[in-house]
Amino acid sequence: MSISTANNITIIGGGASASLVIINFVQSIQQSQTLSKPYNITVINQDEEFWKGIAWGNKSSINGLILTSVNEFLADPDKELFCNWVKETLPEWTNYYQQNGGLLATQWLKKNIPLIQKNDWNNIYIPRFLFGNYLQLQLNNALQYAANNNIIISKIIGKAVNIHQQNNNSYKIIIQNKSKETTEIISEKVVVTIGSAPQKKLFNESSNKVLCINNLYEQNINENLQLLKNKLINDELKNILVIGTNATALELIYLLEEDKLFNKLINKIVFISTSGKFPLATAKQQAANVYAPHLSKIIEENKYTINCLITAAANDLQLSAATHVQMDTVHYIIKTVKHLLLNLSWKDQEMFMAVHGNELSKIVRHAGEEYLTPLYNGINTKKIEIIKGSFENISTTNHIAQLTYKNEENNLTTHNTPFSVVINCSGSSDLHYTESELLHNLINSNLCKINLSNKGIQVNDCFEASPNIYFFGPLLNGNYTAAIPYWQLESISRIIKLAPKLVSCLLQKS
Ligand SMILES: Cc1cc2nc3c(=O)[nH]c(=O)nc-3n(C[C@H](O)[C@H](O)[C@H](O)COP(=O)(O)OP(=O)(O)OC[C@H]3O[C@@H](n4cnc5c(N)ncnc54)[C@H](O)[C@@H]3O)c2cc1C
Repeated sequence: MSISTANNITIIGGGASASLVIINFVQSIQQSQTLSKPYNITVINQDEEFWKGIAWGNKSSINGLILTSVNEFLADPDKELFCNWVKETLPEWTNYYQQNGGLLATQWLKKNIPLIQKNDWNNIYIPRFLFGNYLQLQLNNALQYAANNNIIISKIIGKAVNIHQQNNNSYKIIIQNKSKETTEIISEKVVVTIGSAPQKKLFNESSNKVLCINNLYEQNINENLQLLKNKLINDELKNILVIGTNATALELIYLLEEDKLFNKLINKIVFISTSGKFPLATAKQQAANVYAPHLSKIIEENKYTINCLITAAANDLQLSAATHVQMDTVHYIIKTVKHLLLNLSWKDQEMFMAVHGNELSKIVRHAGEEYLTPLYNGINTKKIEIIKGSFENISTTNHIAQLTYKNEENNLTTHNTPFSVVINCSGSSDLHYTESELLHNLINSNLCKINLSNKGIQVNDCFEASPNIYFFGPLLNGNYTAAIPYWQLESISRIIKLAPKLVSCLLQKS
């Protein structure tokens, strides 16, 4: 089936990035009134819930928290506006959270309401649904203005699987519904905002008696936690294997605290990752002095290569994260590195932004007390074991799962714990092997190219991968352009910062 009206803009993906594009688009029109009207924007989202995406909506648990403190989460003026809103609406959302968030909500509210009242935003890690609600309010205002001003914003539930270039400088987008029936729409411009590069499937779905969860957010995390709970109640074997020690793995440990599930139903959880490390705790107090001796030496000598700079930055970041991650020092190091980079060749700068920057960030991955306390408790009581190694495979013979991995010496090893549950938290995979049909097709037809990071799509100064095909959100990772001077593009503060720039590019050619 084909929908004949041509859209001015089609946004593929209906998460937070799409919301921020629409909010900024409407604000820009409110200020300049430059559109030829009517103007058609269509948003295609494969999930039924629009506007919040994985992190801020119903795919996440109501108890999922932001990873950084509120102070670090947003930059001013957004931070001040958001914090004011959190305080003004406190009675409504605390009541809702208390009623729907169970034991974890009770604990969180008890600890954090006094901190909110004292404006101690440096030590508050808010439930993510709150930011989702805040974003939705801004989006509602934008949608209202659009409806009153002949900007027609339509929604399609479906999965975009391909884009074809037409002869008349427009694009045809192929959309599949759940029954695999296809629809086509035509658009002058396309913005792809489909989140991060998808996680690689590591194993087939559940077989025999083993519960295998390839993606905790596939349907939504609550459904998967329920499956996990049912499995542990009904199975004598109560051991879980988790592949990955990233933010999702950490969130899982926290969510398992609900109903005391962790203590009652789990015998052991084994985590495996190449780093063998979870995010560290964030320091509560500011550093008395910023200490970055390796970078200071480089500045003093004023002669360095890209490798010297990377090594110095890595050493100083390691010092800043000896026990807790000291954010003042981290910010100083990032600022200094960016400055020192300017003396190197463009090729070195590009490579740093695409690859080394992300590697350096891993040294100082950090999280708050709520998430880390259950981890430390689990390690102390030996319920949690962490292996440094690389996952090879899972064999599921005899109704149990057995892990084979390469240990630090690169030797193939079989772990001696039998598992009844296996959960994949391995994170975004290399786009050369992507399981996103859309990305696979766009890469094959040369409408977009993988950038140096292997986890992002190459764009020009105007966010275009091809003329009038724009990318936005975490897939911008690995670009270094005048508009994108960052090496970490996944956080919402970066997406907020970049949205007006994208909108200005979209409007330039309207
Ligand atoms: C669990 C989790 C926790 C996070 N926590 C934080 C945090 O604490 N702080 C922070 O700053 N950032 C956090 N992030 C980062 C977060 O990715 C960004 O902040 C931002 O929300 C990304 O939004 P998005 O719209 O680009 O992507 P998403 O939220 O992934 O939304 C993309 C949407 O596109 C849809 N889609 C995908 N493919 C297709 C297709 N082919 N056709 C149609 N629709 C498609 C998806 O269904 C989804 O609705 C977190 C991310 C996750 C996943």
